[in-house]
Amino acid sequence: MIQSYKQKVELSENYDAIIIGSGMGSLTTAALLSKEGKKVLVLERHYTAGGFTHVFKRKGYEWDVGIHYIGEVQNPNTPIRKMFDYVSNNQLKWADMGEVYDKIVIGDKTYDFVKGVKNFKSKMHEYFPNDVKAINDYVQLVFDSNKSMKKFYLDKSLPNFLSNFLGFFLRKEYLKFSSRTTYEVISSLTENKELIKVLTGQYGDYGLPPKQSSFAMHASVVKHYFNGGSFPVGGSSQIAKTIDKVIESSEGTILTKAEVSSIIIENNTAKGVVMSDGKKFYSDLIISGTGVFHTYNNLINEKIRIKHGFDKNLTKVTPSVAHGCLYIGLNGTSEELKLPKSNLWIYPKDLDHDSAVSRYLKDNDSEFPLVYISFASSKDPSWQSRYPNKSTIDVITLLPYERFLKWEGTSWMKRGEDYEKLKVKITNRLLDHLYDQLPHLKGKIDCCELSSPLTTKNFVNYNKGELYGIDHTPTRFSQKFLRPKTPIKGLYLTGQDIVSAGVGGALFSGLITASAITKVNFMKKIYK
Ligand SMILES: Cc1cc2nc3c(=O)[nH]c(=O)nc-3n(C[C@H](O)[C@H](O)[C@H](O)COP(=O)(O)OP(=O)(O)OC[C@H]3O[C@@H](n4cnc5c(N)ncnc54)[C@H](O)[C@@H]3O)c2cc1C
Repeated sequence: MIQSYKQKVELSENYDAIIIGSGMGSLTTAALLSKEGKKVLVLERHYTAGGFTHVFKRKGYEWDVGIHYIGEVQNPNTPIRKMFDYVSNNQLKWADMGEVYDKIVIGDKTYDFVKGVKNFKSKMHEYFPNDVKAINDYVQLVFDSNKSMKKFYLDKSLPNFLSNFLGFFLRKEYLKFSSRTTYEVISSLTENKELIKVLTGQYGDYGLPPKQSSFAMHASVVKHYFNGGSFPVGGSSQIAKTIDKVIESSEGTILTKAEVSSIIIENNTAKGVVMSDGKKFYSDLIISGTGVFHTYNNLINEKIRIKHGFDKNLTKVTPSVAHGCLYIGLNGTSEELKLPKSNLWIYPKDLDHDSAVSRYLKDNDSEFPLVYISFASSKDPSWQSRYPNKSTIDVITLLPYERFLKWEGTSWMKRGEDYEKLKVKITNRLLDHLYDQLPHLKGKIDCCELSSPLTTKNFVNYNKGELYGIDHTPTRFSQKFLRPKTPIKGLYLTGQDIVSAGVGGALFSGLITASAITKVNFMKKIYK
């Protein structure tokens, strides 16, 4: 049954804008349109709002699903922080993770990623004294790539006629970085395999190892965290909670358990949506933040899909890898359990990232190519008052969707004994990694639960359980259809697929979508 995110709400049939999905991109567009006086309806199929920024509670614990750290929010003058302040009416607060945000663990060696570009460079020089020039050149390229990003995304918010005219010039600089793989760029600076492995040690943040990922994506993630990581005070759910108030102030609302089954299109014009229970809502402005695969394969009829070549466009991009997360609850405070704030990225010693991924895809029982450990409860200063004497840990690895194919179509929590057995096997392997790093936690775990790609599909509606929407390959960045405006009048896209994965990427997607719709220069407005 459809329900309001709040207690009581009067629903209309007509809205100024209808937004499908309540992820970061959708919520940002919703807030910006609301602040322009529009009455916005956000429709979310899950029982709670936020998309990957949602949290879930079980057995007296709370876990954040898709936020472990966000960069560039400590400084009140960065574009990301300004945008968060604007869309939340200054209600979102951020807690700094401290000097070391990521630790790259390769065998018995650990490499710290420390806050501040200068410190980062010095630390890398310390670890790799023979590669000082390569490290400096690498950092410079990271900045150069990011510098050209602004114009690239400006093109996406332009009307088609202007983009046809100016787009080439706006995109061309960034495409120089995005069309090369991360490996191509870094290996042109150094032959030191260990250095390459360390510098690409955050590849899990965008899901593709260096020989497959676009350097532009790598560079945007690396720069994003150069000044450290932060966590939302009060947990990730604060994002939807604070933005909800902004939407409400313009008489809009977020509905949960509200699944859209199709978009009503007449004469190539979007008119409204049909819900899974048959109810209809109408608007001249429909925005989908549910990913390009879901939007074009499921929400639009086949005739229109083919007419506009959406089916062909979708063959040019691929769904990103899927993942599993072991959500762990422990009795005791983070201090008592000596839980760090830094994230751990654990990699096999014997192979480079690409070879480790290939080996694992061939043999799922071989060593995990990547294990990521995040200590959410130690990052949130409000945690102990909300959950006294408890702590949480998330342990994540890549899990191919295909491994879970035989349970496709089964229901959540009722997938059968074999599925549970496989989960126990993976859980034990992940716990071994945790105990390798923090042996004193043996015997301290109160409860744990593993999510699988089917969990992601069930709750966030990515058909192949995608971790990050579409893959961040060089090809992705040259796809012109990944922009807010669609060829259907009144239908727009937002969310990670039109910019990039990451809460920052999705936040920015919301801004360019709202700009494309209203022609308002939100960046200027927000900076004021
Ligand atoms: C495990 C994990 C860890 C991550 N860690 C970080 C991190 O530390 N830092 C960071 O910056 N980023 C992180 N990310 C990435 C980040 O969370 C996402 O890139 C971002 O939140 C995606 O936002 P979005 O706007 O694209 O929407 P999504 O979050 O993808 O939300 C889409 C929403 O649409 C809804 N929907 C789908 N179909 C329908 C329908 N038919 N009707 C109604 N609603 C529908 C879904 O239920 C969902 O709520 C992580 C992601 C994952 C999965």
